[in-house]
Amino acid sequence: MKQIQKYMTALLCAFVLAGMHMPQNIYAEDEIPQEETVTEETPEEEFGEESEQLEANDLDGFVTRLYQVCLGREPDKSGYMDWMNRLSTGKASAAVAVQGFMMSKEMQNKKLSNADFVEVCYHALMDRASDAGGKKNWVEKLNNGVSRNYILRGFIGSVEFTKLCSKYGVTRGDISLSERRDQNYGLTSFVGRLYNNALGRTPDAGGINNWCDLLILKKRTPKQVATTGFFHSVEFLKKSLNNTEFVKVLYRTFLDREYDTGGLNDWVGRLNNGEYRDTVLAGFADSKEFKNLIDKSGWETLSNKELAKYFNDVNSLLLVANKAHKLPNYYEPSDMRQPNVSARMSTPMRDEAATALEEMFAAAKAQGVYLVAGSGFRSQSYQASLYNGYVARSGQAAADTYSARPGYSEHQTGLAMDISDYSGNTYLSRSFENTAEGKWLKYNAYKYGFIMRYPKTKQSITGYMYEPWHFRYVGKDYAAAMWSCGSEMTFEEYFGVAGGETYY
Ligand SMILES: [Zn+2]
Repeated sequence: MKQIQKYMTALLCAFVLAGMHMPQNIYAEDEIPQEETVTEETPEEEFGEESEQLEANDLDGFVTRLYQVCLGREPDKSGYMDWMNRLSTGKASAAVAVQGFMMSKEMQNKKLSNADFVEVCYHALMDRASDAGGKKNWVEKLNNGVSRNYILRGFIGSVEFTKLCSKYGVTRGDISLSERRDQNYGLTSFVGRLYNNALGRTPDAGGINNWCDLLILKKRTPKQVATTGFFHSVEFLKKSLNNTEFVKVLYRTFLDREYDTGGLNDWVGRLNNGEYRDTVLAGFADSKEFKNLIDKSGWETLSNKELAKYFNDVNSLLLVANKAHKLPNYYEPSDMRQPNVSARMSTPMRDEAATALEEMFAAAKAQGVYLVAGSGFRSQSYQASLYNGYVARSGQAAADTYSARPGYSEHQTGLAMDISDYSGNTYLSRSFENTAEGKWLKYNAYKYGFIMRYPKTKQSITGYMYEPWHFRYVGKDYAAAMWSCGSEMTFEEYFGVAGGETYY
């Protein structure tokens, strides 16, 4: 400890000197650390062997304690100096220092179990052994997939840690969490349950972050994640469960309980008689119990909030144009080109949508279905001439049901295409739904990232009558996620955005 005291003296002297030239705004965002006051008010010569001087502001004690409690050893010179420097200059708070120790390479090399990690947290941040209830709760959170930083942050926010910091005169501070799995515990534990129940193991960081990301961005629905994501995964299939074990796992995963004998026998009997596993899986995935688990996860609210910034962003592929969402005046996408497909006229789309359209038309053609592009991007002034023509012909009320007012048309986004049958006889006509082209599009467009934007039964939601020819690009993930919710799912419903028949 004698050595340490020496380093500290050297450090504090250096700090006094440095302090003289320190710009005023160096602590602009943080509270001015108490150390500065102490070094300014205390004459240099009073430092040294007299450790009592530092009791009100015991950085040495704080840092040394972290070495002892977290790493189980005395400080090394360079590490100690570094932390003393960062804490005394306010570059690091107590919270950041604790994170530095608890997440260090040295700590990771100890390969602590979740339970042992939590125990060290109790000692390091609360200065006591764990209580059984508290420990169980933290370990459960880790086993459900949150990061160790998430746990650390929970301890940092405790009354005990705040008291510990003031005892040593250190600014407490906070740490930030950046991983998707740490964004919402309800959602993370929903995915964590899938790992624990379906795969029989705790989540790995990469995997759970990926699922949380897809869910938060709504590129997958919780049902998709559970069914195709987990039950169709290679890892699950490799388990080669027999029918009885398979059904038991379904009970735990989707109904959140163990099986009852009657139910188990019924499902196993069906499987033994040749029922597909996917049919049984769908039965469980559509249960009320599973819907409750989804609701409890907070997925929908969280996702809608997260995605809100994209709906009015012209650079986003989720840009919305409907009667409740006007586009910026005379907006024109900058990345448009003519898709390389059969077309009735020159009619550009945004680059990504054009590529997807080409892929879709080629796939249809390979199956003997010949699609023709009709109308893609329309400028606001062109839409104005179209709309005014319709109003002159059939009156505004009627025109509003099938043509957008200028500035509100989805065609202005460069993401939509009206598609024709090969003959052109049913172009922009409801009878397109009966053609081979119309039928193919209805059931296949989602595979290429397109949605039928104005389904038959949803006029009050989309604001437009049924248009079996109008397809809008949203990307493959979103199109598939929406399709998994039913063939009539609308953009407005899926993303929870305003729509309807009234102009805003
Ligand atoms: Zn259209």
